[in-house]
Amino acid sequence: MDRKVGIIGGGQLGKMILDEASKIGLSLSILDLSNESPCCNLSNNFVQGDFNDYDTVINFGEKHDLISYEIEHINIDALDTLVKNGIEVQPSPKILRIIQDKNLQKSFFKKNNFPTSNFTFFKSKNELINSLKKDNLNFPCVWKKTRFGYDGYGVKVLKSFNDISDIVDSEMIIEDFVPFTKELSVIVALNKNGDLKTYETVEMEFNSNSNQVEFVISPANISEKINQRAKKIASDLAKKINLIGLLAVEMFLTNDGEILINEIAPRPHNSGHFSIDACPTSQFKQHINSIMNFKLGETSHKRCAIMINLVGEKSHIGKVKYENIDLIKDQKDVFVHLYGKKITRPNRKMGHVTVICDTFVKAYKKAKEIKEIIKVKSF
Ligand code: ADP
Repeated sequence: MDRKVGIIGGGQLGKMILDEASKIGLSLSILDLSNESPCCNLSNNFVQGDFNDYDTVINFGEKHDLISYEIEHINIDALDTLVKNGIEVQPSPKILRIIQDKNLQKSFFKKNNFPTSNFTFFKSKNELINSLKKDNLNFPCVWKKTRFGYDGYGVKVLKSFNDISDIVDSEMIIEDFVPFTKELSVIVALNKNGDLKTYETVEMEFNSNSNQVEFVISPANISEKINQRAKKIASDLAKKINLIGLLAVEMFLTNDGEILINEIAPRPHNSGHFSIDACPTSQFKQHINSIMNFKLGETSHKRCAIMINLVGEKSHIGKVKYENIDLIKDQKDVFVHLYGKKITRPNRKMGHVTVICDTFVKAYKKAKEIKEIIKVKSF
């Protein structure tokens, strides 16, 4: 507990890590570019700076014993230097280097025999077009920018040759289109002692317009066999990649019951927010437990939890107001979390609500009602 711990990234994930840290008297420093970020008034040591800048990350890191992060696009060379200089960085920068690049990430799955869809790497749009003269693509297929994509930006389903004209020129992978029935996620925690815990396999339901996660359902409506298989894949992957910390493993469940890994994130994840209100140990507390090598906490829960993302309404940009939040904020088994971002933008993640009910049917009905009435707008 005496160690100086710094977190890179001061968004909502950082805020929720800080909430848990404060409960155990652990004070954390935060590095973020924006002095309006959710963490800036919550940490005693908030440092404003660009985590893509080598010197900024070094200067911040050198003042600490242990560095972790809640964001993936960090200057990785700086993290490597910190490790060389004896500062602990968890999860390891080696993991971050793999996941920052979708080509390296998919290659890691393939090389280690983890189930994932087939893919091909192309250096540029020209290379893709030239290769098409020799080989045909099987449409539909999925174009992904190898770097700096998030929340579906940098991903596009290509239905025909004509769709290629819309993609940007950068390094890319072209993946087989997976005809999936559900998108699943498992969060795994692993500490240095080798303690490993997974949360329930959850189901992510996407908004068909924005392609962003709208609801996260825990536990997923899947058979126990599939639940166990998803957890096993996630646990094996966490061990194979030498994780210390949290790893979110996003997967597809295909029409014929196969599980294929889509992508991974070595940090707390949107698909684990339900755990704050539903589980004995939230993913944020577990993140602290795992990087600090504390005993990992219990993760199981009995009732059905559904997390609803509150995102900025289309065409609303400016100072945020949460329409109708008063109607639900004090309801039993309804838990409102607002991130403290001052400005809303279309699809910006501004908060979430978790509902907990005895049955999935009741929880889903409630979640749909909440999504209908709560609107994130600007003044
Ligand atoms: P991001 O890193 O931006 O979140 P993802 O790789 O998770 O991007 O892709 C975003 C979404 O696109 C997925 O959640 C899924 O709905 C869809 N998608 C991604 N890859 C495939 C695929 N191979 N087949 C079918 N749909 C896919």
